[in-house]
Amino acid sequence: MDFGTRLFRTALLGLAGNRAARALSQKYGLKLGASRFVAGETMDDAIAQAKRLNAAGITVTLDYLGESIGSMEEAAESEQAYHALLASIHREGIQGNVSLKPTQFGLAIDRDGCRSGIRSVVKEAARLGLFVRLDMEDSPWTEATINLVRELHAEGCCNVGTVIQAYLYRSELDIHQLTAEGINLRLVKGAYKEPRKLAFDSKRVVDANFRRLIAARLDSRVYTAIATHDEAIIRYTKSYARTRGIPRTAFEFQMLYGIRTPLQLALAKEGYTVRSYVPFGRSWYPYFVRRLAERPANLTFIMRSIFTR
Ligand code: FAD
Repeated sequence: MDFGTRLFRTALLGLAGNRAARALSQKYGLKLGASRFVAGETMDDAIAQAKRLNAAGITVTLDYLGESIGSMEEAAESEQAYHALLASIHREGIQGNVSLKPTQFGLAIDRDGCRSGIRSVVKEAARLGLFVRLDMEDSPWTEATINLVRELHAEGCCNVGTVIQAYLYRSELDIHQLTAEGINLRLVKGAYKEPRKLAFDSKRVVDANFRRLIAARLDSRVYTAIATHDEAIIRYTKSYARTRGIPRTAFEFQMLYGIRTPLQLALAKEGYTVRSYVPFGRSWYPYFVRRLAERPANLTFIMRSIFTR
């Protein structure tokens, strides 16, 4: 990554945690251009988009946005929102599941309370035949998130999985352990600002590690989601699976709502399972800023859409 891009990314990721900027974003709703990446502010908006994607052959994971909450009352609201979301997915016959962030359930405030909130969502999802993915946030939460998923699995909840980030040095070991326990994983490059003592800094090295992790998981046949918009990585996955005789039922591709939609459609047409990550809710600001940081060109797109409205 060149110096300018690194500086841009660091500045934007710093803004993701800024409370004043977040409050301002809520005031202006999705008008700042975030609607390109966010399905809407309500559950009905998300369900409508999920139906549209399902009709095009794309399955979904619905994410009620909200992270780093300030109290366990807010955690209880997240829990209720996820119960409502599961009921709606089930009632509307949506081909999809849910993703949630552990800090949205109070991981930073009360670990036992967080565990019990997430457990209640996972149990309800199991009752409805649905799957729950715990997204991976920044490194202070890696260990706790993995442990939470392992505990739930050990309790017999097999409908829960998490995410492993290729930029972290620890990921190879984590994959080894989680694969041995048969845990469903999503593999990503990683979206947060991490210190050099924990994470690879160079895109080339992260990409190489991503390929290694993909190969290890495909060889294991434990169900894996490869979540990327990187066509070289997608080509690598397809070719690795083909040459090793790994069935398409052992993995899926995931991409974010609003990004590379033609590629999502093309993969689905080829017969791969493709899942679009569909975020919705009023707390869209940090999610939106991470999407801008991933690709400087997005900022130009957003500026253009604001000034040409
Ligand atoms: P890159 O090398 O960053 O991008 C490859 C190409 O994809 C770019 O050249 C560009 O054309 C396109 N592209 C990538 N990002 C964008 C964008 N924002 N806007 C427009 N085009 C873009 N990260 C976590 O840390 N934890 C998670 O739980 C997590 N969950 C995710 C779930 C899904 C379904 C996906 C797809 C990503 C998730 N991520 C998560 C984000 C991930 O870590 C990366 O930050 C993100 O996917 C960008 O990396 P990339 O693999 O697409 O490759």
